[in-house]
Amino acid sequence: MAELRGVGIGLGVAQGPVARMAEPSPPPSDAPSTQTLDEEKTRVSEAVAAVARELEERGAHAGGAARDVLEAQAMMAEDPSLEAEIDTRLAQGKTSEWAVHDAFASFRDTLTAMGGYLGERAADLDDVAARVIARLRGVPAPGVPDPGYPFILVAKDLAPADTALLDLDKVLALVTTEGGPTSHTAILAREKSIVAVVGVASAKDLADGEMVIVDAAGGLVTTSPTVDELERAQHRADARASAAHAPITPGALADGTLVPLLANLGSPDGAAEAVALGAEGVGLFRTEFLFLSQSTAPTIEQQRVSYEKLLSAFPGKKVVVRVLDAGADKPLPFLNDAHEENPALGLRGLRALRASEDILREQLTALAEADAATRAAGTAADLWVMAPMVSTVEETHYFVDLARSYGVKTAGVMVEVPSSALLADRVLAHADFASIGTNDLTQYTLAADRLLGSVASFQDPWHPAVLRLIREVGAAGRSTGKPVGICGEAAADPLLAVVLVGLGATTLSMAPTALADVRASLLAHTLDDAHRIADAALAADDAASARDAARAAASTQKEAVK
Ligand code: PEP
Ligand code: MG
Repeated sequence: MAELRGVGIGLGVAQGPVARMAEPSPPPSDAPSTQTLDEEKTRVSEAVAAVARELEERGAHAGGAARDVLEAQAMMAEDPSLEAEIDTRLAQGKTSEWAVHDAFASFRDTLTAMGGYLGERAADLDDVAARVIARLRGVPAPGVPDPGYPFILVAKDLAPADTALLDLDKVLALVTTEGGPTSHTAILAREKSIVAVVGVASAKDLADGEMVIVDAAGGLVTTSPTVDELERAQHRADARASAAHAPITPGALADGTLVPLLANLGSPDGAAEAVALGAEGVGLFRTEFLFLSQSTAPTIEQQRVSYEKLLSAFPGKKVVVRVLDAGADKPLPFLNDAHEENPALGLRGLRALRASEDILREQLTALAEADAATRAAGTAADLWVMAPMVSTVEETHYFVDLARSYGVKTAGVMVEVPSSALLADRVLAHADFASIGTNDLTQYTLAADRLLGSVASFQDPWHPAVLRLIREVGAAGRSTGKPVGICGEAAADPLLAVVLVGLGATTLSMAPTALADVRASLLAHTLDDAHRIADAALAADDAASARDAARAAASTQKEAVK
């Protein structure tokens, strides 16, 4: 038995045999073919047809949006102009592998140059090419394996396209060797309630078929588990399944201290699910979704329709909308066109909006109109508006004053940069509220790009340096009497949620699927416990010891209760 450590997402536990995601194989060489032209042509047409049929079958099995994506991929594979491109290269004496690779690449470049919807399909074309080449080589296709039975998926990291198509009846849990708690995989795992441990570097040695236990609460993968360990894991999984059916109550600690639990949403479409899972409002509405697939900013009217839909899904409830956060991990061609060496430290968030103030003004206009329309219809929410990546007190004044001039009653800022956390009392003297974005606050505190796998281990909000900054903001919230919310991924970690409340957070906002676990965790601790557990974490030297210290403090308190 061995224990491999990583960062657990949520509280789940699962067991099963490993199936590894195949690594992409190296590109083919352009050495001349040793086979005849007819032989190469037959090989290509068989491989292409087999891949197209396989994609169609997978699509029919997956259904819904996935079927459309996979059927479109199958059609791409058999596109006659692509076949002609491949034939041209075969006629030049090239191998099937190289002809497919090169013809698809030139097709991809054409699509990319077209931009827009077609440009976005370029990655799908790469996937089809990789599948055809794998078949020609007689090696497993890249992407999610299908061993024919439920399995624990072990991968370096997952591409968004892979994760979107995961068959949750088959994938019992995810283990990645790379990626931190804010990676795409982690966000998706949380969204879909998949048991996951990410950043387990030593999982690269796990073999196909090997039995493991994946314990997200402990951030552990146990290899060669004993019968006893398997039974205990099963028992915990069963207990958790029944907790998921516990009654939905307002977020509160064991002593009755209320901690409203809010939802992070990326589009109004997620509102109904959030309400069903007990969200008491929205703590972060990311407005980027309206802008990301566009080459120009959406009109005021397009925005108003979307904001109205959101607000009317939460009548009388708090809804915190964040104005556009463009730049760095969310590039937008019409806002950040200049090349920047370090985009995370460049013109992003409020800085980018200030440089294109008309876009900010239009967004505030659309929000004010949506607020007025929902008021008239009797479906109004309590609208709060905040700006991302505010790094100075002056920027706070700028945004809050501008938002108020558009009739926004509650205007606040996100605390995502250490400078704002350290000056939180000055920031909160003017802003109506603060919302801590722990994903960026961690990135900027540890100087570790949140998108870079090589520094993912630094991207851990349990780091005591991050916790100290949060404590500053909590203290400023108390002294100014202003609310301090948390809306980064940290709020979705059930034990860290208790620590955050101990540090002064007054609300927690998270992916709706995390609400049940966090609700249960808060109910197990009083405010005094939360202070004690937070103090234990603050006293640690690093993120791993902070997590261990908090866990020990939480279990000591449970023992004392017994
Ligand atoms: C954050 O940085 O924690 C946050 C909530 O914003 P985003 O993840 O959208 O940058
Ligand atoms: Mg952020």
